[in-house]
Amino acid sequence: MPEKSTSVRAVFLDRDGVINRALERDEKPYPPRCLAEFEIYPEVSAACAKLKAAGFVLVVATNQPDVGRGTLDQAIVEKIHAHMTAALPIDRVEVCYDAGQGRSDSDCRKPKPGMLLRAARELNINLARSWMVGDRWRDVDCGHAAGCKTIFVDRGYAEELRQKPNFTVKNLAEAVEIILFSPVK
Ligand SMILES: [Mg+2]
Repeated sequence: MPEKSTSVRAVFLDRDGVINRALERDEKPYPPRCLAEFEIYPEVSAACAKLKAAGFVLVVATNQPDVGRGTLDQAIVEKIHAHMTAALPIDRVEVCYDAGQGRSDSDCRKPKPGMLLRAARELNINLARSWMVGDRWRDVDCGHAAGCKTIFVDRGYAEELRQKPNFTVKNLAEAVEIILFSPVK
């Protein structure tokens, strides 16, 4: 069945490195291991508020493979998300716990677009008029696969991109300026 055209626009937000500071080892990002390590970047609250004021639905879409790998407790991730949604105007959180690494890889693990497609179905989102913001190649490729515009938040990790993002920025505040002033409506 062809996708119905709707006017609902979303910004899909990766979590670690976009909403909150990722822990870094050897120039690679890792998720916080507990609520105490979950530090929302200072610019994020105002950035989310601007997007909400402009009418966007905000959906966090995050891979948390450590849960699938058995090295992080799902209850900790849920506690972090309860804190995050209480602190920020986020409409929905999509989480993929797949381990990846060839062990389990469903259609929800970014770069696959399953989380975005599910949210779009349930919230009636027009993906072609929506954006994906993330700090890794998996986010950029996921956004493209879902048919969204993509913004790469460059945190300087030792990791190459695969597909080219539509825009590259330093943080979510810069991403929001691009989204709000984009001619794509
Ligand atoms: Mg990230």
